[in-house]
Amino acid sequence: MSIEKTEAVVLRAVNFRDTSKIVTFYTKRYGKMSAIAKGARNPKSKFGSLLQPLNYLQIVFYRRENRQLQTVSSSEFVKYFKSLTSDVDRFSISMSLIEIINKVMHDEEENETVFSLLAESLIALDTPGTFPRNTFAHFALNLAIGLGFTPDFSRCLICRNAIDLEREKKVYYVIEKGGPVCEKCSANLNEGFLLSDSALLVLQSFVRLSPAAAAKSEIEPGLRNELANFSFVYLKRHLDTLKEIKSLRFLAATPQEIAR
Ligand SMILES: [Zn+2]
Repeated sequence: MSIEKTEAVVLRAVNFRDTSKIVTFYTKRYGKMSAIAKGARNPKSKFGSLLQPLNYLQIVFYRRENRQLQTVSSSEFVKYFKSLTSDVDRFSISMSLIEIINKVMHDEEENETVFSLLAESLIALDTPGTFPRNTFAHFALNLAIGLGFTPDFSRCLICRNAIDLEREKKVYYVIEKGGPVCEKCSANLNEGFLLSDSALLVLQSFVRLSPAAAAKSEIEPGLRNELANFSFVYLKRHLDTLKEIKSLRFLAATPQEIAR
């Protein structure tokens, strides 16, 4: 047994027995991990009250190899999110991020890129004046990239010519094949996700931008749902475990998927 310290975001917390909690964390050093917090529901337990979904903490725990359940012994805020719970939109999008992480990440599989993406996206959602839907689209796209599914937005899958956004107003994106199809080649296409030229341009930029920068990007409001829908469908196609996300009701519009 060893004593370990790591940054962690709380994904879930359920009551256990009379005074304890079982908490699922996404941690920086150990990936997804479950731990028991003994006495956490005791009103006097300072560390226990922090063990709530969305909290970004520094935790100390006793680690046993090959154990499904570790024991967490203390926690403190790395960053306290003031605005996440007071704004419905920001709250439901934050909840969808942790729900997605909980569904797609495996236990004890460390991925610092994904951890930073999650932590920085929550910070962006908590920052006043940012656009929550931008964060969702950026998160879903970059999570897919962090898990090895990098999209190509630049060359037509069929003719391999560069997609010329000056000329093309609509592009079909074939998610399974990971690339766009130019207008000329799309005549015989029978699958694809219709993207506007402006959506494609933003997606290209989101691959490079940090969560903080993406959250501030001035984008036409109508475009934000298109981007969020595309990024989520893109992620979902690559990850079988991601069928339904309850907190995603904000994506009211159905995906603009065209089967011709
Ligand atoms: Zn082409």
